[in-house]
Amino acid sequence: MSRAAPMDVAVIGAGVVGAAAALALSREGLRVAIVEAHEPSTWRSDAPDLRVYAFAPDSQALLDALGVWPSIAAARAHPYRRMRVRDAAGGGELCFDADALGRSNLGHIVEHGLLVDRLWLAVGRQRSISRHCPDKLQSLVQDETGVTLELASGTRLRARLALGADGATSKVRELAGLASVNHDYEQRALVTYLRCEKPHEDTAWQRFLASGPLAFLPCADGRCSIVWTLPNADAERLLALDDGSFCRELTRAFDARLGAVTEVSARGAFPLRRQLAREMLTGRVALIGDAAHAVHPLAGQGVNLGLRDVMALRDMVHAARAAGREFDSPDRLARWARIRISENSIAAYSFETINRVFSNDAVLPTLLRGHMLGLAGKFPPLAQFLWKRAAGI
Ligand SMILES: Cc1cc2nc3c(=O)[nH]c(=O)nc-3n(C[C@H](O)[C@H](O)[C@H](O)COP(=O)(O)OP(=O)(O)OC[C@H]3O[C@@H](n4cnc5c(N)ncnc54)[C@H](O)[C@@H]3O)c2cc1C
Repeated sequence: MSRAAPMDVAVIGAGVVGAAAALALSREGLRVAIVEAHEPSTWRSDAPDLRVYAFAPDSQALLDALGVWPSIAAARAHPYRRMRVRDAAGGGELCFDADALGRSNLGHIVEHGLLVDRLWLAVGRQRSISRHCPDKLQSLVQDETGVTLELASGTRLRARLALGADGATSKVRELAGLASVNHDYEQRALVTYLRCEKPHEDTAWQRFLASGPLAFLPCADGRCSIVWTLPNADAERLLALDDGSFCRELTRAFDARLGAVTEVSARGAFPLRRQLAREMLTGRVALIGDAAHAVHPLAGQGVNLGLRDVMALRDMVHAARAAGREFDSPDRLARWARIRISENSIAAYSFETINRVFSNDAVLPTLLRGHMLGLAGKFPPLAQFLWKRAAGI
């Protein structure tokens, strides 16, 4: 069994959230180990990843501060300038416009595979991060001063803090005995790329249907990436359709807002569940990203919450070190966890409420929604407030 030098932080999982956490904490002067089960694939521009995010401005700012964003922007990240939210049954439209908000854009549409690739390359360049990949967390034991982790390879790691960034089925959460509250929406998010008759106008479109929200996200090559929330059986049926029939169904579902859908790529779907850890911290083990909170991916917002866990942790470490204090005092960690769990729960239940209220064709909710969207659309300060909340600024 090999035993590595003691670390300040051991991060388990190098998805977008774990890799960003490792980079951010090592830049604060901490010694970091990162464990990842699978070597991330190299991103290829000719093989677009179906998993796409509406990357919020604060997420972009984090990656910029980590020196990673320029390479992502140069590869493929498409700025969107407007967002239009419309309810199919209740009428009413809410529009956010970058010009009206005094910004050059509202965010970027960016592929998961590209983010992971560029973050992983940056992790490899950072000398104060030791990488253990491919390797898997097997066991974890904590005491008052730190955590001892054993990996599948037999390597043993010791760290003052262990961060579980190992996704919705987190082994860290299980080993640390952190319970979660789970709810299966019995829905799937169907994702694909498509082309329409009309240009996408650099606009992120969201249409609420009785079956669930349908988002069209504008991409650099003129196509749109969609996230279509559907009951499981409907998603199965649509996945099995031939391309022509699928395009026709989609054109109808989107009310031909951009004309007919003329071309569609391969399709994928992923199950939707809310999974919220009751606590994000126990002793010296903390959870971040989907390990702590898997939420409804309304318009591909999922990853922004996880990156906000990272920003808050980085700021906490920065403040502690600037004051000459230990970064991992129990009070400090508890304060971080309290703030994040409250923000994540609010976000998760807001996404869920929006999904529920809008995926409902009863008369009262329908009237209410049309009224709500109309009101927010006619009252710019309210629209501005809502957007700032979503953008994290
Ligand atoms: C199939 C799928 C498609 C999705 N598509 C979309 C989408 O289109 N739009 C959207 O907004 N959201 C989507 N989501 C949700 C989104 O991917 C997550 O919100 C986001 O990836 C969370 O990032 P994360 O880094 O916290 O976790 P993850 O991306 O899940 O990363 C966890 C990492 O931990 C590693 N790991 C796991 N266990 C261990 C272990 N024991 N030891 C070491 N490493 C381990 C994994 O290999 C992985 O690299 C999708 C999710 C899934 C599962």
